Amino acid sequence: MTRSWPNQLFINGEWVNSASGKTWSVVNPATGETLTEVALADAVDVDRAVTAARRAFDEGEWSKMDPLHRGRLLFRLAERIRESLDDLAMTDTLNIGKPIRDTLGWDAPVSADLFETYAGLPDKIHGKCFGTFSDNMMMQIREPMGVIAAIVPWNYPLTNAAIKVAPILACGNTVVLKPSEVSPLSALMLAQLAQEVGFPPGVINVIHGTGAEAGNALIKHPGVDKIAFTGRHETGAQMLEAAKSGMKGVLMELGGKTPSLVFPDAQLDNVVNGVITGIFVNLGQVCVAGSRLLVHESQHDELLERIIAKAKGLRQGDPTDPKTQIGCLATPIHCQSVAKRVARGKEEGARCVLSGAPPKSPTDCFFAPTIFDGVTSDMSLAREEVFGPVLSVLTYRTEDEAVRIANDCDFGLMANIWTADGTRALRVARQIKAGKIAINGGGAFRASSPVYGYKLSGFGTELGYDEAAHEYCNTKVILYSMSTEKSLWPE
Ligand code: NAD
Repeated sequence: MTRSWPNQLFINGEWVNSASGKTWSVVNPATGETLTEVALADAVDVDRAVTAARRAFDEGEWSKMDPLHRGRLLFRLAERIRESLDDLAMTDTLNIGKPIRDTLGWDAPVSADLFETYAGLPDKIHGKCFGTFSDNMMMQIREPMGVIAAIVPWNYPLTNAAIKVAPILACGNTVVLKPSEVSPLSALMLAQLAQEVGFPPGVINVIHGTGAEAGNALIKHPGVDKIAFTGRHETGAQMLEAAKSGMKGVLMELGGKTPSLVFPDAQLDNVVNGVITGIFVNLGQVCVAGSRLLVHESQHDELLERIIAKAKGLRQGDPTDPKTQIGCLATPIHCQSVAKRVARGKEEGARCVLSGAPPKSPTDCFFAPTIFDGVTSDMSLAREEVFGPVLSVLTYRTEDEAVRIANDCDFGLMANIWTADGTRALRVARQIKAGKIAINGGGAFRASSPVYGYKLSGFGTELGYDEAAHEYCNTKVILYSMSTEKSLWPE
């Protein structure tokens, strides 16, 4: 079946070519085929998009409209996404090599859920009224913030876009979304669906371009009020540098190095499945991928044996086949980067106990599930984000040591704890320095649940009702005097 995708930029409610006329080939990593050519934005296009978003915010109806109506539009978009699940899911599958069972079973429906969840937010954004002073009414109110630049990576193309766009719009802002240059297609389809359901022009703008050119121009643009970023911490640091001259707000959702602490009383069948899913779903290209397994020395051999056996049985292959469990990495460049980290792990003395084979050719993206044993906290495998299907196994003797190893890392996005002892679970959870703790596999994504990062994993809060209102609204205090007396100071 021949597919076609929107392949222009979406600016001010219209589909336009890039000012330079340049395009970019979007490639299927599983086959090497070019899917389509998409217009490639530069600073001129960024300026057009920000100007449109600015005008829609400052002069348009969006930020002032009845919040219930704003919610209704978001809800309609959620429904249109649901009607288009097959197309959206297959698009991300073809674009980044993620199995269709995941894009159809998770990415696309969750993206609809996100718009549905945040459709309920607009009329519930509220402030406070302080009644301390009898002659003065002090009101704290929230107002839409303005133009938000949303810059997202390629690992969940549609879902990452929805995570940003849904709460940004719910709070009455306009948005310029820049998907990764690698994976723009589902974000452009999202714009198309938004156009169909009647979002006013300029409220949603989607520009496809590289980070160095379009991304950089977007974060520096004076018309942008806030940058909402998801990506690598190195990119985040560059953004902070660029954003500081404009004193823009920033929200940073960055990388992770999730530890899974398995205690001897844990339900091992559940642990095995949880660990396998945590590191091999989407081939480990997940910010919260459970890349560090911390196992008690008494249980090490049994658990590792079971995990290896199960990992060997995973079906890797054609991402469009519904039976495929793991597809391929998103680009050949990324595959080479994973291979380099695996080679470094071997050089540093970690024992590769499953696969670890390098790609077969410079264009090969099919990296097999890989497991390293005997990893220690000083090794790069335990410290750096691989963003690939690579599990590092570390051993501990006591609970204190497990906590120490878990925290001995620059990232702090998530941690998993596996134990039948509820008191221990909470005691350990309190000591782990991470924004999300999943106990006994309870870490499933919820559209309404806020996302926090400790340390290099970022700052600011993604999602959550109150949290979204805090991130994407300006807060103002209005002080109203009810006194009839004049000010005494100049007398
Ligand atoms: P990346 O940082 O290379 O790119 C992310 C986005 O930033 C892309 O759109 C890119 O074009 C843009 N960009 C790059 N350089 C830029 C610049 N100088 N100025 C402006 N924009 C620029 O990240 P990636 O490799 O696409 O994604 C993988 C990373 O994303 C991993 O570190 C992963 O952990 C992280 N991630 C985090 C979360 C989270 O919720 N914390 C979720 C998903 C992914």
